[in-house]
Amino acid sequence: MRKKILVTGGAGFLGSHLCEKLLMEGHEVFCLDNFFTGQKQNVVHLLSNPFFELIRHDITMPFFIEADEIYNLACPASPIHYQYNPIKTIKTSVVGSVNMLGLAKRIKAKILQASTSEVYGDPEIHPQTEEYWGNVNPIGPRACYDEGKRCAETLFMDYHNQNKVKIKILRIFNIFGPRMHPNDGRVVSNFIVQALKNKDITIYGDGSQTRSFCYVDDFIDGMIKFMDTPESVIGPVNIGNPEEFTILELAENIIRLTGSKSKLTYKPLPEDDPMQRQPDINKIKKLINWEPVTSLEEGLKQTIDYFKNTII
Ligand code: NAD
Ligand code: UDP
Repeated sequence: MRKKILVTGGAGFLGSHLCEKLLMEGHEVFCLDNFFTGQKQNVVHLLSNPFFELIRHDITMPFFIEADEIYNLACPASPIHYQYNPIKTIKTSVVGSVNMLGLAKRIKAKILQASTSEVYGDPEIHPQTEEYWGNVNPIGPRACYDEGKRCAETLFMDYHNQNKVKIKILRIFNIFGPRMHPNDGRVVSNFIVQALKNKDITIYGDGSQTRSFCYVDDFIDGMIKFMDTPESVIGPVNIGNPEEFTILELAENIIRLTGSKSKLTYKPLPEDDPMQRQPDINKIKKLINWEPVTSLEEGLKQTIDYFKNTII
């Protein structure tokens, strides 16, 4: 059955891949974006599809449309972008969620929230399970994002409990791949761009902090399957690749795969930068029989090819 699906933040990195996949599956897609960090370029190849509609709108303002499903992805995701205008960031998560949940309630749509591993903050348990309540500094530089996303989860649960809205909460751990913004400051795009230009690779801190990187195609596949689970499944559920690497290992891999002459340079570790991050994905594995299939090396090769074609 062809569904009508609203994707907020649809012109961003993850949103554009999601729109593409949903169209491929035969659905009608409304891509809503205010183009803060997203770009028309990410979806320009979809514009000729009669089942695709691009809408410029800011989710902090109410929005009305008829749809069967809503994927709520609108929110800047990279630390430099979400810290650029912290008040706007938290409004996007909180006011934006209220608007989208109000819409879902009115039109009886199912709504999925793109939550984040940042709800765990700088975690004291490792790997992170969904039961862990997190360790977040509520007044630090990352709070506008972390607390905004935590409040959005609260709103989703409350709309579900109070108004029976059909919700899904997905906690996303570091995704990477083609269409990451070359200047958005995230580690994979930064290192690849630096390596391709033979510029110094900027390691923040001593590089011993860890992240677990999941390739975008694996993630999109999991997100759509999670949306399709029965109504009783609401989450929160972790999604990501549990293979954990230090930032130094990531840099070494990227230098090797690009054949770069770049050297490492060390910069101060940003305040509240989490020291370790690895998802426990047992829940999602059981729920939808999903696990990532793309290795870091394979995903990096695809992403390096993308950046070679776009920035050089
Ligand atoms: P992105 O910055 O590429 O995409 C976000 C999109 O939302 C952009 O197109 C931006 O223009 C749009 N947007 C921002 N504020 C808006 C507003 N007020 N109204 C309408 N549109 C708005 O980031 P991404 O990596 O694609 O992330 C997408 C979502 O997934 C975000 O909600 C992010 O928090 C979440 N997430 C991503 C990751 C990751 O590793 N990429 C990890 C955890 C969570
Ligand atoms: N990082 C780094 N050099 C960079 C960009 C990021 O060492 O040029 C580090 C950053 O301090 C963090 C990790 O890489 O420890 C992941 O950063 P990113 O901004 O990609 O995501 P997040 O911290 O939100 O997981």
